Amino acid sequence: MRNFVRKNVLNFQPYIPGKPIDDVKREFNLKEVVKLASNENPLGPSPASVSSIKKVLNKINIYPDGYCFELRKKIAAIYNVGENQIIFGNGTDEIIELIGKTFLNPEDEIIVSEHAFIRYKMAGDLMGCKVIEVPMKNYKHDLNAMANAVTKKTKIVFIANPNNPTGTYNTKDEFEMYFSKLSILNSQLLTFIDEAYAEYVDEKDYPLGLSSLKKGLNVMFSRTFSKIYGLAGLRIGYGVASSEIISYIERVRPPFNVSSVAQAGAIASLDDNQHIRKSKELVSHEKKYLYEELKKIGLDYIPSVANFILVNVKIDGRIIFEKLLRKGVIVRAMDEYGLKNFVRVTIGTSMQNRKFIKEVTKTI
Ligand code: PMP
Repeated sequence: MRNFVRKNVLNFQPYIPGKPIDDVKREFNLKEVVKLASNENPLGPSPASVSSIKKVLNKINIYPDGYCFELRKKIAAIYNVGENQIIFGNGTDEIIELIGKTFLNPEDEIIVSEHAFIRYKMAGDLMGCKVIEVPMKNYKHDLNAMANAVTKKTKIVFIANPNNPTGTYNTKDEFEMYFSKLSILNSQLLTFIDEAYAEYVDEKDYPLGLSSLKKGLNVMFSRTFSKIYGLAGLRIGYGVASSEIISYIERVRPPFNVSSVAQAGAIASLDDNQHIRKSKELVSHEKKYLYEELKKIGLDYIPSVANFILVNVKIDGRIIFEKLLRKGVIVRAMDEYGLKNFVRVTIGTSMQNRKFIKEVTKTI
């Protein structure tokens, strides 16, 4: 059968998600398991979303609105962009894949950063194009080096800001320098800025993709409902770009890729400011706790502006990952990101973080 399969798929490495709670309970015969592996919101979904979802459940015999009319209007108003400048996806994951399918030919190149969110590289690999990986500088995307890696064949540069798994971000000045380099090169390439964790960032020099887009640069930025909004199980995210870029991706988008349940949940979550505020406060409070405790037990970490921390465990991170699993704590091993001696831990509730610290202290 091998010659039946597309060459790019034969060489393709599938994505390894965080281990589900029920799997770990079954495997290790545990009653209580804490999942700190997928940067989800430990406070749960926005209560407003849950009640909105309940109202649409008796209509799920009807296909969803493929245009996401209500949600589209809301997002367009938030950013003051045209309704035709937005695309919705079954998670940002789908948007990343749709971009690949829309723009990438085998002779094209994309640029990603060394320890960036891995779905960008996968989008390039799937389409069989060349993926150029640029080393990081101090666990940050080196935007200068990424601009220097641009060639005539470069179609897309992918930048997660903040980045997963490092939790680092690039500043306004760094982006300005990057875009001025691109303008000298006269490149038409698309810069994709993934803002999955933007809501957690307070830093004053943190730039929004929106302002680059408004300057007329060829930028697409994406947001997700999976993180601070607590709706990862619904699978919904969106991208904002020029109407022309969006119109091409729309040709490829499956007709009903976002469920009616997801649309109802997302619309309600946008107005639930209390839930967003509480979620943000929890992360900033608990981050301080985790930093202090990690220092006490002698583990280094990369300071993070997001809701997770990359921890240097000094030995093979997979060993720590496996030991923690047995104790009912799921973190993420980082070997697939080329960060062998690290684990990534999502900032959970106070109780979850204390359990993580207690167990990690015993394992190191
Ligand atoms: N981008 C980044 C940087 C992420 O960390 C993730 C989730 N791991 C995604 C995108 C995908 O999110 P979604 O649930 O919207 O598909």
